[in-house]
Amino acid sequence: MNRLFCVVPCYNEQEVLPETSKRLEAKVKELIASGKISSDSRVLFVNDGSKDETWNIIKKLHEENEIFQGINLSKNMGHQNALLAGLMTVKDICDAAISLDADLQDDINAIDEMVDKFNEGADIVYGVRSKRATDTFFKRFTAESFYKLINSMGGKTVYNHADYRLMSRRALLALSDFGEVNLFLRGIVPMVGFNTDVVYYERAERFAGESKYPLKKMLSFAIEGITSLSTKPIKLITSLGFFIFFISIIALIYSIAVHFYGHTEPGWTSTLVSVWAIGGLIMISLGVIGEYIGKIYLEVKSRPRFIIQDYVADDKDRAKAENIYTRDI
Ligand code: UDP
Ligand code: MG
Repeated sequence: MNRLFCVVPCYNEQEVLPETSKRLEAKVKELIASGKISSDSRVLFVNDGSKDETWNIIKKLHEENEIFQGINLSKNMGHQNALLAGLMTVKDICDAAISLDADLQDDINAIDEMVDKFNEGADIVYGVRSKRATDTFFKRFTAESFYKLINSMGGKTVYNHADYRLMSRRALLALSDFGEVNLFLRGIVPMVGFNTDVVYYERAERFAGESKYPLKKMLSFAIEGITSLSTKPIKLITSLGFFIFFISIIALIYSIAVHFYGHTEPGWTSTLVSVWAIGGLIMISLGVIGEYIGKIYLEVKSRPRFIIQDYVADDKDRAKAENIYTRDI
């Protein structure tokens, strides 16, 4: 039978963890009882450098019940890296792993269907939101425009899918071959391939605590997503350059014509406007190119994407884990 891991990144989630762990435990036990997953299936919490009691709660959960495991990152590395840390830790010890958020906004009842589809042969099962009724208008609007924008730029993301998905062991192993430091998982996972399927669910509201994705983080996440999946923005700049060049030729012909017909104007306004407009365009263009050069810089250094300082789990799982920098104090 198949061993399932639920991987849950947690950043300052002390308010939700007691409830989340209860619900996940019930879900995993129910799946074990119905014979869909093996009895040594686990829930793995990844503490992403939380400043509150999150890690202590995770350690306590593990001590009280071996169904829970935890890894502790050396500092806050961000949602995507925390998720990857969890997935890479379980890739050799599970048959399938499901990633989900600590606030359980993603309906855990969809797990049954994900596991069914996995048992029927799917390697990646995407959780897709059927509606966004509980999100604010603003969040819904920004999120949906983001999906459209990223797909029009050539990225292949699954519409209305966040990071709620099941991946089989071989999909995880394939994912581990993608070495990029600029990590945008929901854009990379579709590149892995294999058999894929989709499960629909309704997204609930966060039952406690606050969103860890304020507008600023959301925007940088969007820029990260676009620039790590597509080079179209650079091509757009080239087209823009041609367009401006074309306009300048028209302006040249116009000014020569005006010169010969004797209506020459002082030309102050047009000069001023074009200086500012072209100056602005050049700055934007340099900014976009800089964004990519910054990415190349980070990739070239190939720094570790996460650093794990602790892994609390059964001895046999711990023995298989690699690159854990534990220290007894
Ligand atoms: N998260 C994380 N590291 C961060 C920010 C968020 O591990 O730096 C986790 C967080 O604990 C949660 C998930 O990522 O489990 C999604 O965050 P949140 O629910 O705040 O985002 P939203 O649902 O509002 O988009
Ligand atoms: Mg949330």
